[in-house]
Amino acid sequence: MKKIALLGATGSIGQSTIEVVKRHSDKFKIVLASAHSRIDELLNYENQIPIDHFVITGENGITRSENTDNIHHGEDTLLSLLEEIDYDIMLNAIVGSAGLKYTVAGLKTGHTIALANKESLVMAGDIITELARENNCRIIPVDSEHSAVMQCLEGAQDKSHVRRIILTASGGPFSSLKIEAFKNITLKDALQHPTWAMGDKITIDSATMANKGLEVIEAHHLFDVAYDEIDVLIHPQSVIHSMVEYIDGSIISQMSFPDMKLPIQYALSYPDRFDATAQNTDLANIHQLTFYKPNFEKFPLLGMAFEVGKKGGIMPTIFNAANEAAVTLFLQEKIHFTDIPKIVEKELAAMNIHNPDLETIIEKDKEIKEKIYTHY
Ligand code: NAD
Ligand code: MG
Repeated sequence: MKKIALLGATGSIGQSTIEVVKRHSDKFKIVLASAHSRIDELLNYENQIPIDHFVITGENGITRSENTDNIHHGEDTLLSLLEEIDYDIMLNAIVGSAGLKYTVAGLKTGHTIALANKESLVMAGDIITELARENNCRIIPVDSEHSAVMQCLEGAQDKSHVRRIILTASGGPFSSLKIEAFKNITLKDALQHPTWAMGDKITIDSATMANKGLEVIEAHHLFDVAYDEIDVLIHPQSVIHSMVEYIDGSIISQMSFPDMKLPIQYALSYPDRFDATAQNTDLANIHQLTFYKPNFEKFPLLGMAFEVGKKGGIMPTIFNAANEAAVTLFLQEKIHFTDIPKIVEKELAAMNIHNPDLETIIEKDKEIKEKIYTHY
């Protein structure tokens, strides 16, 4: 029985994880589930599967029926519990930079991390991969593209055999929209993702393609590949989740119907495989798979991500923080869709800080966000 600490249990990834655990309740047990808000939804899981500890990290989490021993409050309590309780794997499905300290806490205590919170790796990729090495723990990607790459690399005899990684992207809802029409994009338009149902932040990131940019940086750290060896390819059907090209020209891909329950289950069952929770893939019904190059002019955040990734240091943290703040403002309908890349670009004029420590990274994230929030 694998004991799981599930952080961000009420989100889109959190809910899919609960489905996977319910399907394989003989193999997985959730020992801790955390959420920032939507307390009723969190506590309702108890009616579906046994969970030992619930942790509510948000401010207004204390309500009526919660004075029981297994319901805890606060970020520090969550961090202490992650040191005290017995678990095998942390699934970090918190959204945004808030997830970083928990990834660090999990690694410091020698745990395997199933990582959905890509922002952790974007902000502090060097520190996190070093921590994983030092403590001999594995980071298993939950992101569908990186799960695909990991599976495509399974047959690799030698790292030098890999020519490049090809991350696929659906292209989001605006891939065929003319650039002149971008100024009229509404929040409602941007929240309509063509192939995936996800949390609001990543849905907007997919519409701007910042998500693919974050994934490029994530891939660089997870698979130790240079930025020049990572390509992005638009693939609107979201059936091929990513590919690895080998030096002899062979391209290996991983395919399935787009459903996050598959990469979540693989991250939890690895190195084993269990019967499917996600629906099966009927290729005959998909008919065709198409590919084309991304448009960097329409989606400037993608190019910026490659740039900040190559620069390294504090730049990916600034990119992530500015993007997170801009997306929050867009979700509050305070700015236009086309303001998001402008806000990020402005912050990227900052001086780089090389080899920042964790404190500097967390401080910079806060500083950039506060600056943007006070300005709008
Ligand atoms: P979501 O918004 O649906 O859920 C986020 C979860 O995090 C919720 O449980 C929320 O309570 C919790 N949370 C929010 N702020 C928090 C804070 N300050 N402290 C602690 N917990 C907090 O998000 P999601 O779509 O499930 O995405 C979660 C992560 O997984 C993101 O990093 C995203 O990029 C990544 N991801 C998601 C998908 C997807 O299909 N949704 C796919 C790949 C990767
Ligand atoms: Mg992804």
